[in-house]
Amino acid sequence: MASVMEIYQLLPKTNCKECGKSTCMAFAVDLLARKVTVDDCPPLVNEAKYKSGYEKLSSMITPVDGVTDTGLIVHDEKCIGCGNCVVACPVNVANDPLGAGSGKAPTSDKVIFKVEDGVVKARNVQECRRFGENRILCVACIDTCPTKAIEFV
Ligand code: SF4
Ligand code: SF4
Ligand code: SF4
Repeated sequence: MASVMEIYQLLPKTNCKECGKSTCMAFAVDLLARKVTVDDCPPLVNEAKYKSGYEKLSSMITPVDGVTDTGLIVHDEKCIGCGNCVVACPVNVANDPLGAGSGKAPTSDKVIFKVEDGVVKARNVQECRRFGENRILCVACIDTCPTKAIEFV
């Protein structure tokens, strides 16, 4: 599966904002979540120098139908408590603007990830953007974990 960084590398990386996003990275995140399509980046579609990027992205970004995850697992023995997932998870950020949303330890109980005794604990997993009616294929926590401690099954 594609990662945000892989997608970003194939975009023009000019932050021209023609897509309506403030940066190409923001566009990459939305592209991975299928909130936008490859065709929503005008330079990518129109400029010859981005043609190979356009073609690669078009084949990488397939419909979201394949999501069958039902649970989130943190492999404790792999987690080093770095906190990357704590500040990367959009649910943590949205539910705890003063803590996780500011790059700090959570101050709210509504977060999904919180480091306790050096290991991340997952709770409120039903809030994860991979589940529920309007689910998206979020990979923010998986992508930022240096030890691949987070898995969806
Ligand atoms: S239109 Fe394309 S190049 Fe411009 S900011 Fe958006 S993603 Fe980046
Ligand atoms: S996949 Fe779920 S738990 Fe992981 S960052 Fe996204 S919303 Fe958070
Ligand atoms: S990003 Fe990975 S290693 Fe870091 S706290 Fe989260 S689960 Fe643990």
